[in-house]
Amino acid sequence: MADAVVVGSGPNGLAAAVILARAGLEVEVYEAEEQIGGGCRTAEVTLPGFRHDLCAGAHPMAVASPFFRAFDLQAHGVELLAPQVSYAHPLDGGRAGLAWRDLQDTADGLGRDGRSWQRLFGPLVRRWEDLVGLIMSDLRHPPIDPAGLLRPDQGVEIRVLRRILEQATPLWNLRFREDIAPALLTGVAAHAIRPPRSFPGAGVSMLLGTLAHARGWPIPRGGSQSIIDALVDDLKTHGGRVITGHRVDSLGEFDDVRAVLLDIAPAEFQRIATLPTRYNFMLDRFRYGGAACKVDFALSGPVPWQARGCDRAGTLHLIGSRAEAVAAEKAVAAGRHADRPYVLAIQPGVVDGSRAPEGKHTLYTYAHVPNGSAQDMTEAITAQVERFAPGFRDLILATHVRTAATMPLHNANYVGGDISAGAMTLRQTVFRPAPRWNPYSTPLPGVYLCSAATPPGPGVHGMNGYHAARHVLRHEFDVRTDPLELLTDHWRI
Ligand SMILES: Cc1cc2nc3c(=O)[nH]c(=O)nc-3n(C[C@H](O)[C@H](O)[C@H](O)COP(=O)(O)OP(=O)(O)OC[C@H]3O[C@@H](n4cnc5c(N)ncnc54)[C@H](O)[C@@H]3O)c2cc1C
Repeated sequence: MADAVVVGSGPNGLAAAVILARAGLEVEVYEAEEQIGGGCRTAEVTLPGFRHDLCAGAHPMAVASPFFRAFDLQAHGVELLAPQVSYAHPLDGGRAGLAWRDLQDTADGLGRDGRSWQRLFGPLVRRWEDLVGLIMSDLRHPPIDPAGLLRPDQGVEIRVLRRILEQATPLWNLRFREDIAPALLTGVAAHAIRPPRSFPGAGVSMLLGTLAHARGWPIPRGGSQSIIDALVDDLKTHGGRVITGHRVDSLGEFDDVRAVLLDIAPAEFQRIATLPTRYNFMLDRFRYGGAACKVDFALSGPVPWQARGCDRAGTLHLIGSRAEAVAAEKAVAAGRHADRPYVLAIQPGVVDGSRAPEGKHTLYTYAHVPNGSAQDMTEAITAQVERFAPGFRDLILATHVRTAATMPLHNANYVGGDISAGAMTLRQTVFRPAPRWNPYSTPLPGVYLCSAATPPGPGVHGMNGYHAARHVLRHEFDVRTDPLELLTDHWRI
C-alpha cells in the first residue's frame, strides 16, 4: 500500500508526487487518460510528423517558478528555447507591437510610448524573483518584507500593486499616447479570459509582461510533454509509480492510504467524494469561466506575417486594438461569441525545428469562447490569422479542433472548456476553490487538493502541487523540510 496517492498527472500532480517521493514516501499517481501530463501533453493530431502541444505551449511560468527552478528542468534534459520576441501583437496596416526579450529593444520599438513601457516594467523586471515569489505564493503567507516597504525604492509589493491598480481602472490609458503599447499590454491581460481591465487581468499582464523581458516565454524542444516526461522520470527514479487509463470514481479506493492529493477540479472532487454539506455548498459556488476552442494547424511553410518582427515571435495575440480586445472579451464574459475573437497563436518552429517535417511548420491557436461552447472556431481563427498574415490559408495542410464543449472529454479539469480550472475573478484568485485559510486541505482527513483550482491558479509552474505537498509532509508525515530543499541534488534520503 502506497504512503501517498496522487489523482491526476498534470504538472501540479506530478510536482507534488516528485516532492513526496523525494521525501522517501511510496507514491502512486493515477491518471484517467492513457497519456500522462494533463494540460501539458504533446501529440501528432494532424498529420504524421507534426507534433502539437494540446494545451500549454509557452512556458514563462515554468522557467520562473520556484518549484521548477529548484527541480532544474535543464538538468533533467528539458531544453527551454526562448524566442527573441517573447510575444507579438500585430495591428491592421502591417504594424505590430513586439515584446523583445530585451526591455530596451522593446521600448525602442514603441515610439512615444517607449519610455512609459520601460517605466512600467523596468522596476519589476529588476525584481522579477521577488515578484514571482509574491504571485506564486499560496496567497496566505506572501513573502513580504515589511522593512522593504519603507525603503525609498519601495518593495516590489507596492510597485506591482500600484501598477495593478492603474491597469485595472479607467486610469489604464493615461500612460500611453499611441495605440501599439496599449494593444500589446491588453493582449497579455486577456490571458486571464476576463475583461482585460480587471484586477486579475492586470495581475496577469504584470506577471507575464515582466517575465517576457526577465526570462522570456520559452518553448520546449520537442513539445511541452518533455516537461512532464522529466517529472515522471524523476518520480520513477525515486520509486514512484504512474498508473494511466485509471479514472478514479470514488475516493473509497484509497481508504487505507495516509495522504491523497487531488490534481482535479472541484466539480470532480464533488463527484468522487461525499463531502460535508458546508464545504459542498462552497464548492457549488465555485464558478467556471471563459473557455477556449483549440485549433492546431499543419502548414506547408511558415506563417507569412505582414508586420516585421512577427516571424521572430514565439507567441502572438491576434485581436487588433485595445478597444477590439476589450469588446471581444466582454462578449465572451457575457456568454456570446465575438465576431472577431481573441486568438492566441504559438509558432514553435521559430525556435524548434523538431515539431514538423523539414520545411513544414505547426501553428498552435486557440480562441476565447463562452463556457461550454460547442462552436468549431476553425474558420474564425483562420480569418484572424489571415487578417494579419495574408496567404496563410493557402499553407494549411490539415487542422485539428477541440471545442470547449469537448475539452472535458480529454481532461475533466477543464469544465466547459475553462482552461483555468475555475474563473479568474478577483474572489476566485484568492479563494480558490473555497474561502479557507488553508486552501489545499479539505474537510476529509488526509485528503488535499493540489490542482490549478487552488492558489496560485493556472499555468505550468507546479506551485499548487508544491504548496499542497508541503502541507502533506508537515501535517501527515511530520516532515518539516522545505520541499525546495528536497529537490536539490545534495538531498539524500
Ligand atoms: C488549451 C490550453 C492552453 C494552455 N496554455 C498554457 C500555456 O501556454 N502556458 C501555461 O503555463 N499554461 C497553459 N495552460 C494552463 C495549464 O495547462 C494548466 O493550468 C496546467 O496544466 C494545470 O495543471 P494541473 O496539474 O493543475 O492540472 P491538469 O494539467 O489539467 O491535469 C489534471 C489531470 O488530472 C486528470 N484527472 C482528472 N480527473 C481525474 C480522475 N477522476 N481520475 C484520474 N485522473 C483524473 C486529468 O486527466 C489530467 O490529466 C493551458 C491550458 C489549456 C487547456
